[in-house]
Amino acid sequence: MAKLGRELRAKGVDVIDLSLGEPDFNTPEHIKEAAKKAIDENWSHYPPVAGYPDLREAVCVKLKRDNDLDYKPENIVVSTGAKQSLANAVLATVDAGDEVIIPTPYWVTYSEIVRLGDATPKLIKTCAETKYKLSPQELEKNITDKTKLFIFSSPCNPTGTVYTKDELKALADVFEKHPNVFIISDEIYEYINFIGRHESIAQFSKIKDRVIIINGLSKGYAMTGYRLGYIAAQADVAKACEKLQGQFTSGANAVTQRAAITALLSDLRPTKEMVDEFERRRQRVMELLKEIPGIECAIPDGAFYIFPIIKSFFGKSDGETAIQNSSDLSMYLLNKAHVSTVAGNAFGDDDCIRISFANSMQNIEKGFSRIKEALMKLK
Ligand code: PLP
Repeated sequence: MAKLGRELRAKGVDVIDLSLGEPDFNTPEHIKEAAKKAIDENWSHYPPVAGYPDLREAVCVKLKRDNDLDYKPENIVVSTGAKQSLANAVLATVDAGDEVIIPTPYWVTYSEIVRLGDATPKLIKTCAETKYKLSPQELEKNITDKTKLFIFSSPCNPTGTVYTKDELKALADVFEKHPNVFIISDEIYEYINFIGRHESIAQFSKIKDRVIIINGLSKGYAMTGYRLGYIAAQADVAKACEKLQGQFTSGANAVTQRAAITALLSDLRPTKEMVDEFERRRQRVMELLKEIPGIECAIPDGAFYIFPIIKSFFGKSDGETAIQNSSDLSMYLLNKAHVSTVAGNAFGDDDCIRISFANSMQNIEKGFSRIKEALMKLK
């Protein structure tokens, strides 16, 4: 969609991009200053594969400060983005033939990396009625002798679902009975949470050793282009990730790592201001959505997406374009409304589309007005 949107824009069409997966904010000034200082101080040599020791220490400080979790630098591996951390963690834990449980809707990279590791993704459908949360019963039912790994995100991309402490505890109780299963907890949207405190499943001591936290600076600090992610995991898993990364890419960008220390150890005010703005937009997006007949949507508790159910438009047409699935609808909105969104089938749920509110209020207003007009033509 991003590519098609760019192509249309190159032809002079005014496309409003509501498919964005990154904050539309600039990196805070003090972090940019730290990056400039790092260049001037000649942080230009190969960094250690797992990250500079003081950065790994800063990650531990952050995990204690924000999550009350105790980790040592030996538990931390810094990578070129949470995506690489995820790839390292999956490839370090799965073998050919293993099964990996992934609740859907999910971020599509999860299943693709699992396949790359010759393991089999086992997708478990969750639905809007339960706020797209996996129940402990469903989890238990799907664990087999072959299950090696479970992957989920909270806050979730694309649904914005945020698990509470009690809900995570219920899942942790199931994992406690299955000691061979690792848990990848993708917490990249940690700070973009509209309902209060972020909870990590790593807080449950009986399973902590098997939890691999994935996090990074992309979303919470508006630093997608800097490329900085990390894992926190038991030392053996961290070592395996370091080994893999040592062959794939080596250490993450040196300048980025120095800037990351500043980001992690400084006041979170710029992040909070960004999140306040996301919250205002979320409010407005939900109001605008109510004005469009045929769309249902749960209010997201985190991240910067809504994931509305649009299946009432299937089987309809504007006289030119027939809509049969989420891809058709997403393409229709791009071609006729000049608004880019992402089809739900990219996240394992064809009844929905993902609309991002990581765009200005003005563009959101304009985009929703165009979406409404285009959808009302479908009969
Ligand atoms: N995890 C989720 C759920 C994401 O949505 C993304 C980015 O879109 C990432 C991980 C990757 O983040 P990074 O930019 O740190 O690679």
